[in-house]
Amino acid sequence: MQVLKFGGTSVGSIDRIQNVAAIIDEISQTEKQLAVVVSAMAGETDRLVALYRSLGVSIETREYDLLVASGEQASVALLSAALRKRGKKSTPLLGFQAGFVTDQKHSKAKIQNIETQHIQNLWADGSIPIIAGFQGVDAAGEITTLGRGGSDTSAVALAAALGADVCDIYTDVSGVYTADPRICPEARRIPILSFEECMELASLGAKVLHPRCVELGAKYRIPIRVINTFNRGECTVIKQMDSEDKGLESPVVTALSHDHNMILVTVHKAKNAVQDYARLFGPLSDKGVIIDIISNSAPDAQGFFDLSFSCPKEDIVNVETLLKKFGQEYTVRSGLSKVALVGTGMRTHSGVAARVFRILAEQSIPVFCTSSSEISLTCVVPSELVEKTIQSLHKGFELGNP
Ligand code: ASP
Ligand code: MG
Repeated sequence: MQVLKFGGTSVGSIDRIQNVAAIIDEISQTEKQLAVVVSAMAGETDRLVALYRSLGVSIETREYDLLVASGEQASVALLSAALRKRGKKSTPLLGFQAGFVTDQKHSKAKIQNIETQHIQNLWADGSIPIIAGFQGVDAAGEITTLGRGGSDTSAVALAAALGADVCDIYTDVSGVYTADPRICPEARRIPILSFEECMELASLGAKVLHPRCVELGAKYRIPIRVINTFNRGECTVIKQMDSEDKGLESPVVTALSHDHNMILVTVHKAKNAVQDYARLFGPLSDKGVIIDIISNSAPDAQGFFDLSFSCPKEDIVNVETLLKKFGQEYTVRSGLSKVALVGTGMRTHSGVAARVFRILAEQSIPVFCTSSSEISLTCVVPSELVEKTIQSLHKGFELGNP
């Protein structure tokens, strides 16, 4: 049993949709229980969002979900038609028809349950289910979407619900790289990656996979393969690593990721960090804002602090609305990006931070704030220096040499 997911570029034109139909046709010769999850055609979701924004009205999330979910509706119908052209039986399904039930947080919904009976019935009938990713239905019968990039999560959630052996994510790159190859030409494909490292990379900005999809893969122990639709020979397998996979010594740093999409908020003259964070973060979490790096300065002579936190740029309106109510002086700094180093080897090796700051100092790259976990170190740098930061860290940690 196998779940395949095809991303937007893979279904970006009628020719490409026919190419995907050929791949499905081929795999279905040996795999009888196949479920296919599809994204909207490349650029389509962006186009729909831009149309909506061009009205200049505030975003009403029920409308928004209804609109953006339509991108996937088109691609499942077209892919099913392309399969029919090849004499293959398939059934296009919207998220709700495939049994995807979510919570009610429009535009950021989480999958609660997948009723797989319909899919099982289609298999019994010899038909391949072609399912719209990124969407579901809430308890009230409203169409919901999972957040941008969410069809990866649809696919892995479905693989978990069906008990599939593997979830194959077909995309336009040959896997996960040591850094974004467009920025860093020396970047290498990583053949096997642990869930843990991949989760860290995805949540720190690597664009290959939706972070929640890796989380689900880890939780249900479903290996995820990232495969290039246009060159199926090479891939990255993301799985629970055993000692054999790791080799004799794991590298200290496995990969770098970056994220342009952040703002740094500083609230000035706070009196009680704990209380103020509680008052700020409660309402932000109700809006689904994901808070990232949190730090506060030491108190000044009068006992005042500065509180800082970072969050995604698209939440700026939510954040500013709340800060205005909060009644405290604040600054919001944009034009910043995160660059993160990730590697399970950091657990057992010292000196990573020293090496990072030495490399950055040599290049005169300023760092606005940092955070770290057991297996990562993140630096916030000016967006215009991201490329330079990545290239020098990639070289400094010798990630280009296997
Ligand atoms: N079509 C949606 C997006 O562009 C979902 C996805 O492709 O994963 O965000
Ligand atoms: Mg995607």
